[in-house]
Formats: sequence, C-alpha cells, structure tokens
Amino acid sequence: MPDAQTPVLIGAERLESFVADIFRANGCDEAEAGRISHHLLGANLAGHDSHGVARVPRYVEWQQAGYVTAGKRAEVVTDGGGFVVLDGGFGFGQTVAPQATALGIERAQQHGTAVIALRNAGHIGRAGAYAEQAIAAGLVSVHFVNVAGSVMVAPFGGVERRFSTAPFSVGVPTSPPVVLDFATSRVAEGKVLVASNGGKPLPPDALVEPDGHLSGDPRTLYGDYERTGQRSAAGGLGAIRAFGDHKGSGLAFACELLAGALTGGGTAGPVGERGRIANGMLSVYISPKHFGTEAEFLRTAEAYVAWVKSARPIEAGGEVLAPGEPEARLRAERLREGVPLQPDTWASIVRCAQGLGVPVPNAAAA
Ligand code: NAD
Repeated sequence: MPDAQTPVLIGAERLESFVADIFRANGCDEAEAGRISHHLLGANLAGHDSHGVARVPRYVEWQQAGYVTAGKRAEVVTDGGGFVVLDGGFGFGQTVAPQATALGIERAQQHGTAVIALRNAGHIGRAGAYAEQAIAAGLVSVHFVNVAGSVMVAPFGGVERRFSTAPFSVGVPTSPPVVLDFATSRVAEGKVLVASNGGKPLPPDALVEPDGHLSGDPRTLYGDYERTGQRSAAGGLGAIRAFGDHKGSGLAFACELLAGALTGGGTAGPVGERGRIANGMLSVYISPKHFGTEAEFLRTAEAYVAWVKSARPIEAGGEVLAPGEPEARLRAERLREGVPLQPDTWASIVRCAQGLGVPVPNAAAA
C-alpha cells in the first residue's frame, strides 16, 4: 500500500474492472455495474476526478440506503413525439441518463429536434458524457441539470445556500468536438471533496462564510471532519459561490427552473422531507442534417474554432483552448499512463471494496 502522501497510479482498465466488481458485489447486474464504472472512470480520464471513482463509497452507501435503486429504467410520463417527459424513479443516473439521451437522439433523428425532460435520476455524474453521447450520433445538444434536494450554492449577492451546483453542458459535433460542461457553482462540490482529501486546493474565493467572508477551506462547506471520514455538506455553515457573478448565478437559476421545476423533479430547495437527492436534466437535441445545412454548419464551425484558438495568448507560451480540449488531452495521457488518485480517495475505495469482499488490485505509487 503506498504511503499517505503519494498519489496512487492505477491503469485505466484495471481500475474500471475493479469498480465494476464493487457495484456487482453491491447488487448491480453486470451491464449496470459496467455502465457505472465506465462513466466514473470516464470522468477521471477527462480530469474531472471530482466526478470519478472518488464517488464509489458514496454511491455504494446510497444504494445500500435505498436512495438509489439498481436495475431501474426510466419510465415515460408524457410522450409528445418531439418531446418526452421521463421519470428516472431514482434509478442509477448512469442507467437512466444514457437511456434518456438515447431517446433524445432517436427522436431528433426522426423529427430534427427533440426535448427530453428527465426527473428523479440518481446522480448522473459528469454531464458532458451525455453531450458526448449525442455528438457520437452527429447531434448538437444542450443540457440543463439540477440536483433536487441539494442546496449548496449561494446566489449572487447572498450568503445563504439556494442553488444546487447545477451543471450546464453543450455539445457540438465538430471535429474535434466542442464539449462545454461545467457546474454553475464556482467549483463543483466534488472539487471541495477532492480538496478535503488532500487533492487540488480550492481557489481562495470559492466558498463564502455566513458572515460574508470568502474562503477556500473545505470546512466552510463540510464543517469539521476526520481525515478519512465521510464528508457531509450538512456539516458546514457556509456555501459554495455561484460562478461569474450575476451571470453564472443567473444560469444556475435557469438550471433550477428548467431541470428542476419544469421536469417535475423539484428544485434544490426548500429541502423538506425528501432525504435524498436526485438529478433533473432538461435536454435539447438538434440534428444539423435535418436543417439541410450540415456540411456548411460544420465547415463554418470548424473554421471558427480554429480562428478562436488562433488568438494571441495572454501569456508567452500559453494557448487558447476550445471547450472539451483539456479533457481530450488528459484522456489520451491517462489512458497511456494510468489514473492518479489521491491516497485518501484510494483508501476509501479499498475500504469499501473490502467491506463487500471484493479483491483489491495492486496500485503503484505515482
Ligand atoms: P470546470 O470548471 O473544470 O470547467 C470545465 C469546462 O471548462 C469544460 O467544458 C472544459 O473543456 C472547459 N475548460 C477548462 N479549461 C479550459 C481552458 N483552459 N480553456 C477553454 N476551456 C476550458 O468544471 P466544473 O465546474 O468543475 O465541473 C466538473 C464536472 O462536474 C462537470 O463534468 C459537471 O458536469 C460535473 N457536475 C455534475 C453535477 C451533477 O449533479 N451530476 C453537479 C455539478 C457538476
């Protein structure tokens, strides 16, 4: 076992099959365990460790507590042809969100556009994965996401929690694809989790204390915690700040209204009796082929991406990147060299596996 400070390095394939073993041992069938592990690993490969395998112990606990249910498919609430409302029934997000996306793709290929409202999904993880699923089918997509029952983020001008970390994602099927995907909070909650595990520190103004002081200390969100213990956002008195002042705060507002209120899944709060959280996602799918201008659209978009990237960098040796580019680069690197994990993250996954009797693979010190 590597020491407490040195990151652990583990091959992507080995890590993916280890995580799948954990979910199989926790009661998921082969296909679902594979989907969850593939999605979590995909987030690590993209560099979003906050939404990667660090989530395993929490997902396992949620499943054991009945907050999320294995083997559930989303059910149709309303089918209007070009739009569908789906209820995820608190199934695993990695099952019901790809299902909702596949339906959006199918309907957009029929009608040219489609709107899919998904409510009551278990944690769907990295929202960009669904934009990538649509990109693989040649579609543009826009995804507004919220987390019903999870208030973490202070609105612009406030210090009290009112929004979830509500991510927003846009996918454009250029070559290479453009994938915009971010939380509307200054940092995703998972990044606070990673920082609390000794990973990348938070920006010093990412959080806000009840008295209005800005903070980069995870304790503002979690309160005091044991180094290897569970973190709970219910433990802290502060909040994560919305990104981009009134503009990011406004986008978070829109995510709550569209992905929360319009889908019927509920907004971030007031929390009430729920006791569990669920993602809502309102997605729009557009087929450029149906617009009759696909070739021209792609030509114009790709030329534009190249022109944007050609802007003179602010720093010598710097570079302007398109959304999705940092993830694509890191994916290639981590597939080649392995996935680095914070020692505390690795230790908590190992503990979780051992609790389920799952053999632990070797991991090297990075
Ligand atoms: P982030 O702040 O790292 O921003 C990522 C986005 O910015 C990507 O589109 C990336 O390509 C782009 N980007 C990054 N560096 C860039 C650069 N130098 N130039 C140009 N573009 C650049 O992301 P985040 O806010 O920390 O979110 C992390 C993940 O958390 C996302 O995948 C999000 O979907 C996920 N999330 C999920 C939930 C949920 O409830 N399921 C909630 C919050 C966040």
